[in-house]
Amino acid sequence: MLTDLVQIKRLGEKQRGENLKFRAWMKRHNFVERRFKAIAERVEDAIDCKECANCCRVATTQISERDVEQVARGLGMKKSDFLRDYTVKTDDEGLILRRDEKGCVFLEGNLCSIYEFRPNACELFPHLVKGNGSLLSRMWQMPDRAVYCPIVFNTLELFKKETEFKK
Ligand code: SF4
Ligand code: SF4
Repeated sequence: MLTDLVQIKRLGEKQRGENLKFRAWMKRHNFVERRFKAIAERVEDAIDCKECANCCRVATTQISERDVEQVARGLGMKKSDFLRDYTVKTDDEGLILRRDEKGCVFLEGNLCSIYEFRPNACELFPHLVKGNGSLLSRMWQMPDRAVYCPIVFNTLELFKKETEFKK
């Protein structure tokens, strides 16, 4: 299983075109989702996110009203103070968690300092095993995630192998 982030970035970029083709190809076929879920679970079990934390460094985190309530409560803060101190409003992504030079402001080393009450998107990430809607509907973001997330990169490679996708 490949976990080196430099190689993941290089190969994920190199294979972006192929992954986009695979995503479109999957859409034209009728696969049993359970088959893919089992593969993604195997990969998740084999990779230790605490050794990586790359998503918290490179990806933005969109948050909902419910997340705002949950995290503010967890931090023992008023919602308005939490919004002021820890969130940013963006044009393209709406409300996101504030970031600094190391990534998400709640990242400490490789660990999430608000893990027990982290936003829903963090809990579901990388949205292969768990997520809203069907796996197919979540596939549209996977070629981008394969550039920085070892779980996504390795899972897509195994999906292609499993389906005998012609590169
Ligand atoms: S979800 Fe992916 S990017 Fe995030 S910590 Fe785990 S392996 Fe790394
Ligand atoms: S809240 Fe925690 S899990 Fe979510 S991006 Fe920030 S550090 Fe990562």
